[in-house]
Amino acid sequence: RDYKVTGVQTCALPIYEKGGHTLRLVGVEVYNDIETYTSIFGTLFAGNGFVPLNPSMPLERNKSIIEQSELKLILSSNKNSDLSKMAIDAGLSVVDTKDLVAEKIDLTLPQNDENDIAYILFTSGSTGIPKGVPITRNNLTAFIDAFYALGYQIDENDKFMQMFELTFDFSIFTYIAPLCKGASVHTLPSSGIKYANVYTVLEEQEITFAAMVPSILSYLRPYFEEINFQKLKYSLFCGEALVKDIATEWQKCTPHSTIINAYGPTEATVFCLIYNCPHNADGIIEHNDAISIGVEMQDMKAIVVDENLKLLPIGEKGELCLAGPQVTPGYWKNEVKNKESFFILEVDGQKYTFYRTGDLAYKADDGNFMFLGRIDFQVKVDGFRIELGEIEHHVRHLTQLTNVVAIPINNKFGTAEIHLFMENIKNDISSLEEELKNILPYYMVPSYFHNRIAFPLNSNGKVDRKALTESVVGE
Ligand code: AMP
Repeated sequence: RDYKVTGVQTCALPIYEKGGHTLRLVGVEVYNDIETYTSIFGTLFAGNGFVPLNPSMPLERNKSIIEQSELKLILSSNKNSDLSKMAIDAGLSVVDTKDLVAEKIDLTLPQNDENDIAYILFTSGSTGIPKGVPITRNNLTAFIDAFYALGYQIDENDKFMQMFELTFDFSIFTYIAPLCKGASVHTLPSSGIKYANVYTVLEEQEITFAAMVPSILSYLRPYFEEINFQKLKYSLFCGEALVKDIATEWQKCTPHSTIINAYGPTEATVFCLIYNCPHNADGIIEHNDAISIGVEMQDMKAIVVDENLKLLPIGEKGELCLAGPQVTPGYWKNEVKNKESFFILEVDGQKYTFYRTGDLAYKADDGNFMFLGRIDFQVKVDGFRIELGEIEHHVRHLTQLTNVVAIPINNKFGTAEIHLFMENIKNDISSLEEELKNILPYYMVPSYFHNRIAFPLNSNGKVDRKALTESVVGE
């Protein structure tokens, strides 16, 4: 469905009474409907923070998120969902937003401390428990301001496509950035094949600003010959490496669009480095075909460090670290992870708290950063962030096996799928798959399960992931 939201609507909810709010965090069960977007804005306008809960995720996962964020109230446009029922059984209040009457509200915003939480998103955690990333009002404002400061021409005539699940941080951008400028948001139908819906919405609704994950292009590529989107002004990609040849082909399909490669983790509020591709493909800066992730947005600081967290000079490869007003104050109630992920460093005479992204990068002579991959076992599948360790943790737990390895391997579209390798498994694999579906989000459930009598080992005695990968590529 296509929602055009040009003004501000919100619901009259008991918790929104001015001055009377005591709740800090409100759960929002997310659907592709106006009630959900209204609930998110209403929660923010009331001075509270929202925690999106995705009904297509396993109940166990949502339960962990509800418990971790100590939610007392959930706004839902589908009170009969398993998620709502589970919340009611657990003693939470669930407000049915379909029952609420739209009302004009006084938009004097409550006085908020800038460190109050705007939202918490939960990402994959290698220990098996999703970890919460709280984003403050300050972080969110800094991001939106920095995005507008990039100077893209956006006004109330623009039409943004919103193709993301509302538990994915890129979605925050695709509805907040346009609505704050009076532009409209065009969501995808909830059913059907995602890339086909993207095609239809881009074409039929004459989208002017499309924010996408690069893997969408891999799925659309067979149709590139037929695509000619004259109205598209901006194609912004984020979440995965943007490959030069496919971006160049996309440029031909969208002759007037500026292709933007945006980089950033959830922890630094959606994205914080930007590279605008020149129309002439020869001028695109890349490394091994991956387009540069560009330079920092307003007030952000990016550096590259070695394994001892010492600043590396230009051109040297190391871990990319980020500081500035967009960076989260720290993981939600997770001191261990915070100690590992943040550190203080003086750069050019100024002290910063840096977040370690886990991304391998270097800064080129011209000041642009280049993305080289990960230094750990975090991967992206269709833009979704996955800690392979989280999958392995649950498989070990369910099978009592020790040797379990999850590996992303590219399919014929050039996008990654998870293959799970198990050493000498005796359990029934189809029941294991079912059990995993009850625990993991659908995009983390491996697409392929392989049994091996014995794992190949490399010269260090570690499981040889390369040999395992090669064993299926030839199958
Ligand atoms: P998420 O928190 O889901 O946004 O995932 C953040 C991670 O996605 C980063 O740490 C990178 O590994 C990857 N990522 C995001 N944007 C880009 C990009 N433009 N190019 C390459 N990798 C990216």
